[in-house]
This record gives sequence, structure tokens and C-alpha cells, in this order.
Amino acid sequence: MATTDSTETSGLSVRDLTREYPTRGEPLRVLRGVSLDLARGDALAIMGPSGSGKSTLLHILGTLDRPTGGCVTINGRDPFALPEPELAAFRNREVGFVFQDHYLLPQCSVLENALIPTVVATRAGADPETRARQLLGRVGLSERLAHRPAELSGGERQRVAVARALINRPTLLLCDEPTGNLDRKSAQAVGDVLLEIARAEQAVLIIVTHSGELAARLPKRMELVDGKLEEKA
Ligand code: ADP
Ligand code: MG
Repeated sequence: MATTDSTETSGLSVRDLTREYPTRGEPLRVLRGVSLDLARGDALAIMGPSGSGKSTLLHILGTLDRPTGGCVTINGRDPFALPEPELAAFRNREVGFVFQDHYLLPQCSVLENALIPTVVATRAGADPETRARQLLGRVGLSERLAHRPAELSGGERQRVAVARALINRPTLLLCDEPTGNLDRKSAQAVGDVLLEIARAEQAVLIIVTHSGELAARLPKRMELVDGKLEEKA
């Protein structure tokens, strides 16, 4: 069977992306022409001062928000051309998110939390519970499956969030300050699992971070400056 493996078809491609927020006066031009190509297995750190538009960019890449201009291609599809119900299904399948806060459901166990995205839909042929147990094992939580979030450390909660983000084998794994609330050792452990699993599963990993230590571990680093992405040493 012929396979295509270009970024165009299987990774992430972003062209001249702009995002303005309307204000009473001039529109606030947050993104001013962002272009980016990442293949499966690539990992990029995005840095930049507070207010530079990092979260705005991640929200658009994750299809939670729409751009003002430009285009985004994820796994060969333009998500913004999809009608809303299909876009929701596309997002659920193709994008995993890890935020600074874990957003775990307090009444659910670790195993149930990791399974939440599969309640909506999952990839054909996958057995969600087996997958969840495997992922939770890979993030070091096999002994914690029945715990509630309140019975975990901050680092452990964030590792559940990583397993939840990966449950549907997303093309894109988007992380917004994933270690921002953690001590150094827990941050390192979360960085370890993000990098290892994203690479093993050939996801496109993007991590927005203020941590130079975390950014230094990623093969690519860029900075959002004046609404554009610049290479960072
Ligand atoms: P960062 O994540 O880099 O700190 P954000 O993407 O959150 O930056 O915000 C970029 C800029 O856009 C900020 O100046 C912020 O105030 C503004 N902004 C973010 N969201 C909105 C919104 N929904 N409406 C208007 N302005 C917004
Ligand atoms: Mg932000």
C-alpha cells in the first residue's frame, strides 16, 4: 500500500495565520502571520512573554478558536472547513490538550479520567480501557488507577492529564504551560512522559512554556515576538 508521509498530509501545516480581537478602537492584532510546518514525531517549544499570544495560537491550532486569516492543516484536513459537529469530532480524535491546570473530574478515578475523551468517540478498533491502562502505566501510575485526583500529588495529576490527552492517539499534542504549577522534580517527570510518549506515538508535540529547562529538552524552539514566530537559539 502506498503511504504518504509529508507534513502536508500527516502532520501540522500553518500558513500566514492571523488573529485579531475586536476592541472599541483599533482591533488588537495578536497573531500577525504565523507559519509553521511540523511532521509527526516533531517536538517544538514555544516561548514568549506573557500576553504575546501563545495561548491564542494554541487554541487555534487545537481548533478551539478560529483564526481571522490564514490556514491550518492537521493530518491533511482543514478543520475550519468542517461543520461544527464534525469539527468537534475531529478535535476529539486529532487533538490532545494538556493545560497548566489538570482539569481532572474530582469524582472520577484516575482510570475514568483518562477515559473521558473516549466517552464521546474513539478510533475504530481501539479498546479504550486497555489503552488507558497501558498509558497510565507508561506515565508511572499503574498503582494509582482507583485513586481520585484529590489523592494524588500535583505531578501525578498532571501525568493523568497527559494520559487523557493521548488516549485517542491524537495527531497533535498541545501543552500550555504543562509544568507551570509543579516543583522541579515533578516538572521533570511530566516533561519526560510528554517527550517519550509523543515521540513513540509519532504525534506532533507543541509545548508552550516559560521553563528554559523544559524548552532546552525539545529539538525545536521558537519565540512568539510581535505576533510572529522566530527561531530561538
Ligand atoms: P499569552 O498566552 O502569550 O500570555 P494570550 O494569547 O493569552 O497570551 O493573549 C494575547 C493577547 O490577546 C493579550 O494581550 C490578551 O489580553 C489578548 N486577548 C486574549 N484573549 C482575548 C479575547 N478573548 N478578547 C480580547 N483580547 C484577548
Ligand atoms: Mg497563555
